[in-house]
Amino acid sequence: MDSRAPLEQLATHTVSNQAPDLPDYHAYLDDTPLWEGVAREGGADHEPRLRALGEAAGSAAVMALGEQANSNPPRLRAFDRQGRRLDLVEYHPAYHQLMRLGCEHGVHNHAWQAERGGHVAHVALLYMLYQAEGGVCCPLTMTHAVRPALRASTELAAFWEPLLDVEAYDPAYCPASDKQAVTFGMAMTEKQGGSDVRANTTRAEPVSDGYLLQGHKWFCSAPMSDAFLTLAQAPEGLSCFLVPRWRPDGTRNPFLIQRLKDKLGNQANASAEIEYAATWAMPLGPLGEGVKTIIGMVQQTRLDAAVAPVALMRQALVRALHHCRHRGAFGKALIDQPLMRNVLADMALEVEAGLRLVLRLARAFEPGADEQDRHLARVGTAIAKYWLNKRSPEFTCEAMECLGGGGYVEESLMPRLYREAPVNGIWEGSGNVLCLDVLRAFAREPESLQALLSIIEARRGEHAALDRTLARIKGLLTRPEELEMRARSLAEWLAQALQASLLLEDGPAEVAEAWCDARLSERGRVYGALRDSAQVEALLARA
Ligand SMILES: Cc1cc2nc3c(=O)[nH]c(=O)nc-3n(C[C@H](O)[C@H](O)[C@H](O)COP(=O)(O)OP(=O)(O)OC[C@H]3O[C@@H](n4cnc5c(N)ncnc54)[C@H](O)[C@@H]3O)c2cc1C
Repeated sequence: MDSRAPLEQLATHTVSNQAPDLPDYHAYLDDTPLWEGVAREGGADHEPRLRALGEAAGSAAVMALGEQANSNPPRLRAFDRQGRRLDLVEYHPAYHQLMRLGCEHGVHNHAWQAERGGHVAHVALLYMLYQAEGGVCCPLTMTHAVRPALRASTELAAFWEPLLDVEAYDPAYCPASDKQAVTFGMAMTEKQGGSDVRANTTRAEPVSDGYLLQGHKWFCSAPMSDAFLTLAQAPEGLSCFLVPRWRPDGTRNPFLIQRLKDKLGNQANASAEIEYAATWAMPLGPLGEGVKTIIGMVQQTRLDAAVAPVALMRQALVRALHHCRHRGAFGKALIDQPLMRNVLADMALEVEAGLRLVLRLARAFEPGADEQDRHLARVGTAIAKYWLNKRSPEFTCEAMECLGGGGYVEESLMPRLYREAPVNGIWEGSGNVLCLDVLRAFAREPESLQALLSIIEARRGEHAALDRTLARIKGLLTRPEELEMRARSLAEWLAQALQASLLLEDGPAEVAEAWCDARLSERGRVYGALRDSAQVEALLARA
């Protein structure tokens, strides 16, 4: 019962046929494709942790925190009353509570602590938390992702890793040595170029105990993190550095937060413009090989940026299903109207196929992955990040429409999901950059292409539409002069063919059949395109 006791009988009319608020649900146990997928990809040992976050992430209380953190965005306090620099960003308490929830469930570190299945568990954890609030997932992802790059320096890893291993959140603004736990950020993008980081102009001058940086970064999210990986031009060339907010002697490191971006979405998360002015930094990895070092981090953040759009789509689907179960029109609940059933089932198909792909990719990130999986992690992740982020803006728009006019209103959450949708397509490699990166990887390591093709070829003969897509992919690959211009088509076909192959590999058969039929045919891209009512029923039963 609603403790606010809202009145339905009003003086002028009675309120009726309005869907109730979404009640508490279990973001893990109520998501069949999720728990099935976690078990399939080797993450079953992590069930207790996943269940615990699933219960919290689907609760109305945590959803309310997400709403509060977004309605009360972070504020910059660049100066104090006397005009001295503070460079502080203040967050609403709801943001800190969500960060605490994420850290206490190991979203930021569990992947590196488990012997097996840790990356699969990480993806599932992120998937659930992102549904409640995307903004906090940015610092959690960067903190998770920093490990491979950090390990390029034994000395730096020895200091920072124990602080990353702690399952706690410590927002205190003080030297890391006085803290229980830390978070990391990443600052590469400059005004004159984000994709082409070789154009970075920030300079790094060697001094007796490290380097001093001079320059700027045009985007730096989560600027209250304890340390950042950054790129700067050292005498040897573009190099990777670790910049802590505090110097080892306990004084503040100059980290000048100039302003916060006024963003379309992702409101709970602060994204800053910063300047380095004689900012102390330690080199990470070989000097002159900064891109190679920081790519170790970017590879991880890219996987998370491929998971995020699927999480957004899942949350939009949860809301659309809930609404349609409770709203009637023309004598029936919307969910019983055949055309709406088709739309909802088709959206459920998109989520299930997206989740299948990212969970399979997560397995390829596990320690001990074989050569084929190493290639899959490298190029499959770029393809998935590209394609899934092309799907989520359309999808969240479609889900909004399922709620009718109410979906366009802020209280429904749909506008927030819609505004969040484009960001993961832009950061960590924008669409074109990823597609070109895939082409480069294919040219440099032809085995990476082979790794993808072998997954698809293993299902040859199982569905005519998949066979045709494979032929189209191979046809394009024989025309190298067209490849750069058509790199997006190639990535799209590969992504959807991979999804088809994974679904065909171990079903359910109706889902695999529906995917091949609806996505690999020429039938168009609007949701609600399923032809077979048995498929509709099977998909809705799993959603
Ligand atoms: C909310 C938000 C937070 C961010 N946080 C961070 C952060 O914490 N740290 C950080 O370092 N960065 C951050 N970024 C920056 C982001 O990573 C960059 O914006 C992104 O990498 C693109 O760089 P750019 O903006 O300079 O665009 P550009 O590099 O100028 O690219 C513009 C467009 O051109 C395309 N393009 C580029 N090269 C080619 C080519 N050869 N052929 C065809 N098309 C091409 C790109 O795909 C893109 O669509 C953030 C961005 C946003 C929106």
